Amino acid sequence: MKLLPSLGLVLLLLAAPAPPRAQTQAPTRDQLAKDNKLFITLASKTLKWEEPAEPVRIAGPLYFVGTQGLGVYLITTSDGLVLINTGMPSSGPMIAASIRKLGFKPEDIKVLVTSHAHADHAGGIAYLKDLSGGKLAMMEADIASMEDGGKSDFHYGTDWKVMGFPAAKVDRVLRDGDTVKLGDIVLTALATPGHTRGDTTWTTTIVDGGKAYVVVWPDGMSVNPGYALAGHPSYPGIADDFRRTAARLELLKPDIWLVSHTERFDIEGKRTRAKTQGVAAWVDPEGYRRYIAAQRQAFEDEMNRELGVEGAVK
Ligand SMILES: [Zn+2]
Repeated sequence: MKLLPSLGLVLLLLAAPAPPRAQTQAPTRDQLAKDNKLFITLASKTLKWEEPAEPVRIAGPLYFVGTQGLGVYLITTSDGLVLINTGMPSSGPMIAASIRKLGFKPEDIKVLVTSHAHADHAGGIAYLKDLSGGKLAMMEADIASMEDGGKSDFHYGTDWKVMGFPAAKVDRVLRDGDTVKLGDIVLTALATPGHTRGDTTWTTTIVDGGKAYVVVWPDGMSVNPGYALAGHPSYPGIADDFRRTAARLELLKPDIWLVSHTERFDIEGKRTRAKTQGVAAWVDPEGYRRYIAAQRQAFEDEMNRELGVEGAVK
C-alpha cells in the first residue's frame, strides 16, 4: 500500500512508540481509545476524507461521486442507480450533490452496498437510504455493526463514540459469491474478511463503447493501528483471514480497479490522463497486481513487527 507521506507519518507516530507486543504489556483500553481517536482524526484531516471533490465519469455507466479522500461510486442502470460506499457521516449531502451535478437524481438510488461497515465508507448510508428509499445489501458478518452504528465492530466497538456512524437497517443479507442485480448490471460480492469480519470485495463488468471491462473494488487487506494480528482478543483467526483474502485478491484480474480510499489507486493521475485518453486511462491491471502485493507485504511486515521477528520493519 502506497501511503501519502503525511499518513505514513501519522502511522509512524502511532506505531513507533510501540515495541513488539510479544515483549511488552498490552496497551490499556484508554491508550487504545486515545490512539484510535488520534488515528481517525488525523487520517480524516490529512487525507481530506470530508472535503468535496468533482464527480467524474470513469467508464460507461460508472462514475466517481466521492470526496477528496474517499471513493464512492455510482452505477447507472435502466432500473435506477446503484451506489457503492458512502464516505463519512458528513458525506451524504456531498454525494447527493455530486450525483445531481452529473445529471442524475439521488432519489433514484435503488441499491446501496459498501466495502465494509466503518464510518469512512458506511457513514453516509443512513442519510442516502432515507433520501432515496434504496435497499441496503450487506455481507452477513458486518450487519450487526451496520445496524448498531459500529458498536459491534471487533476492534472499534468499545470506541464507537469515536468511530461510530449513523446506523441503518440492512434489507438483504449477503453471503460469499452472492450477486446484486439492478437493470443490466450485476455486482458480485466476494467475502474478503480481515479488515472487518464482513469485508467485501465487489466485482462487476461494465460496457463502454461496445467493449466490456472487468471492474474490481478490492478491500479487506488494510491493517489499522492496534489491530493485533498475532492474536486479537475479539477476532481469533484474524491473521488467517487476512492471508486467505490476500490469496483471493491475487487471483482477480481486473481491467479497472477502484478503492474506497482515493490515494491508493492514483485517482488524480488517472482522471487527468482520462481527459485525453478516455477509458484507457483507468485500465490498470499491473497497478492492481502491485497494490495487492504491497498490501500483502504490509500485512506480513506488521505480523513480523508484532511477533518481534528480528529485522522486522519497525
Ligand atoms: Zn475501515
